[in-house]
Amino acid sequence: MSKLAVDRKYWEPHIELMRRRELEELQLKRLRFILRYVYERSPFYRRKFNELYVKPDDLKKLEDIRKFPFTTKEDLRNYSYPYGGDFLCVPREELICWHMTSGTTGRPTIGPYTFKDYETWMNIMARCLVTVGVRKGDILLNLYGYGLFTGGLGFHQSSHLVGASVIPWGVGRTEALINLMRDFQPTVMTGTPSYQLYILEQMQKQGIEPRKELKLRITIPGAEMWTEETRRRIEDGYGLKEKDGGARNVYGATEMLGPGAGIECEYEQGFHFWTDHIFLEVIDPETLSPVEPGEQGEMVITTMTKEAMPLIRYRTRDITVLDTSGCECGREAFPRCRWIIGRVDDVIHYKGAKIWPSMIHETLLRFPEVLEYQIIVDKSPAGGRFTVRVELDKKRDSTAKREQIIAELRKALIFVTPHVEFVPEGTLPRYEGKARRIIIKEG
Ligand SMILES: [Zn+2]
Repeated sequence: MSKLAVDRKYWEPHIELMRRRELEELQLKRLRFILRYVYERSPFYRRKFNELYVKPDDLKKLEDIRKFPFTTKEDLRNYSYPYGGDFLCVPREELICWHMTSGTTGRPTIGPYTFKDYETWMNIMARCLVTVGVRKGDILLNLYGYGLFTGGLGFHQSSHLVGASVIPWGVGRTEALINLMRDFQPTVMTGTPSYQLYILEQMQKQGIEPRKELKLRITIPGAEMWTEETRRRIEDGYGLKEKDGGARNVYGATEMLGPGAGIECEYEQGFHFWTDHIFLEVIDPETLSPVEPGEQGEMVITTMTKEAMPLIRYRTRDITVLDTSGCECGREAFPRCRWIIGRVDDVIHYKGAKIWPSMIHETLLRFPEVLEYQIIVDKSPAGGRFTVRVELDKKRDSTAKREQIIAELRKALIFVTPHVEFVPEGTLPRYEGKARRIIIKEG
């Protein structure tokens, strides 16, 4: 009998309910193992460790991980292509699949799997699904892309483990998708938050009332920056709370096996990070020293259970705030990460100021009248301009509202006075996959 999640609250209670001390012992054991493993097998890490004169045995306690070198995205670009390159710890013949990033900015980042990696990943993903509340009998509409992107397959295959039925839709053909949603009545939906909101908007245009006409209970938005305001819109729009569900954040990346490194429980207070598989540090991206829980910093991960291509102290470029105060769901040893505030690379540099797009996002979405927005940063030497284009619901548009939005944006941005442009309803682009709301003109 397989362990179908009929009434499970936990997928692996012996792990998820561990005390912090127990978890730390497990981490120490796994870190020691993986440091030795990469040192013996990966030419990249052998070289790196030797350069710093560190040996796997130098790790006596968890903090000793700081003696070991960081791995950067640049390293992956330079040394992991094509099959896994100098990072690979197994013969190529042991690999069963690769995923990779789109590679729009250069060589793609490679995520190779052995059979064991695949099993590990599916198990972590099953844990994620049970944590958000997916059970046997659920119909999961999977709106993450299939193909080289890890999202589609990650959710697809793990659904079988918990006994849910999956509809492998992928991305696009929204009109047909809406028909299918009414006919099949999925109870769980994945996909980018932008796409979940776009579907909602299309339904409302067609006079469909998702709250009444759909059985959707849980959505699992991810793969792009989103905020508490986005959550509120998705939960209200689909009526998720009324059905005892919600919109729950998932985190992951090709470098960490795929989605599933962390996920939110029913308390929706940030995603639990599965630190039995991935060791997590949060550092100041400039000084590289650790920051305290509650402070903003860059996530640095060490994969402890990957076989084909483990990563040691990989700098994700993702900025978060860690909460180690425990959680009512019982997974108290697993820290929670508050929203990913953005990628280090997402920060907009404009006239000496640093601007997080997530701040603009959060400010604007607080206004229910705002349907969509776009940020245009013109850095031309002739003067330049920081423009925020805002699309308002025409039924709720007013001069007072516009003034209020401008004032709030100015308050949020402090060092930059944005030029705010209001555009008619329906003019700004919508997104069926990842949103691209920022346009930078380099001048
Ligand atoms: Zn929890």
